[in-house]
Amino acid sequence: MGNGIALPVGQLAEITAKVSQGLRIDAADARWLWKNATDAELCSLAAVVRSRFHAADACTYMVMRIINYTNVCVAQCDYCAFYKLPGVSGGYVLSQEQVFAKLDELLVLGGDLAAFNGGFNPQLPLSYYCDLFAAIRARYGDSIEFYALTIAEFLYLADHAKLSYADAAARLKEAGVRWITGGGSEILTEDFRARHSKFKYTVAEYFLAQKAILDAGLKTTATMVIGFDETLDERIEHLERTRRFQDETGGLASFLCWTFKPYFTQIGGIEITTAEYLRHLALSRIYLDNIPRIRTSVLTQNERALDGLRYGADDFDLPIEDEVTQKAGATISLDFERILNYARQLGYSPQYRHVSVGNKV
Ligand code: SF4
Repeated sequence: MGNGIALPVGQLAEITAKVSQGLRIDAADARWLWKNATDAELCSLAAVVRSRFHAADACTYMVMRIINYTNVCVAQCDYCAFYKLPGVSGGYVLSQEQVFAKLDELLVLGGDLAAFNGGFNPQLPLSYYCDLFAAIRARYGDSIEFYALTIAEFLYLADHAKLSYADAAARLKEAGVRWITGGGSEILTEDFRARHSKFKYTVAEYFLAQKAILDAGLKTTATMVIGFDETLDERIEHLERTRRFQDETGGLASFLCWTFKPYFTQIGGIEITTAEYLRHLALSRIYLDNIPRIRTSVLTQNERALDGLRYGADDFDLPIEDEVTQKAGATISLDFERILNYARQLGYSPQYRHVSVGNKV
């Protein structure tokens, strides 16, 4: 090579050719990349897929808060530091007034997206959710958008109310809900769920519910959490299932992966490094060639998450609160300019992505 740039050879050359031609990598390719590709090689392949959807220096962000409306939960996931069993001291349920106060503060801080995330609380009837969401629509109109629940909570709510997934989605839609996120997925393999969250529904139930949510005309997203004891094959299986669901439905607006925070959890352990997270982001971008928006997690990586823009991500949240991850060790900074400047120094031009109606989601 006269110019000193080495061309890929062997397996890397084959995978590079596939990606460059717009072809898909398969699970074996993903396994090979994870084990053998350098960070620079992963970034380069991720940039090829990213460039199909976004300009090289483009990225978007939102200011949002997660509202943990109840911490009472019967699921007992062993990686969770947030929940209280029913009847145990410290359990709470937020009133509408408390939720409004959090939304008012979000608006003051320049945000317009809230994501509701709580527990499987057997004391809360369907009317708690429907009344709350209808009241938010009535009070805030389209100035705020909200992700009503995660798929996991939706599954519990439907079962608890003895409704089909279709009927539960319809009831929430009538109450003004537009979004139910793909949260509660963690690692989408039946083995992982049997090991860590056997009361949190199966993978099959997860996707049935997500399909019913889309069929009802609601929007949804894909998520993933890494850094437990999951194997490489389990991570790739999760990506494969997500890609397949998107092929079948086209309904996943984005993919967000974050990392497990182990502090004060039953399983404990140590956090994976940011370097490992970034490599996984790149692999996700390359594998999920049918999801335009790949998000990086400031909530769990702070400003280092923005290095993920070089690893294929194009979008991120600036969160102001999430009790679930904060209880397990996450720290949140409200110095948004410092975080945005980190992206600018990397050569990106972050643009606010309003989710309230009238703006693109
Ligand atoms: S992760 Fe969610 S479902 Fe599992 S115990 Fe915690 S609050 Fe409950």
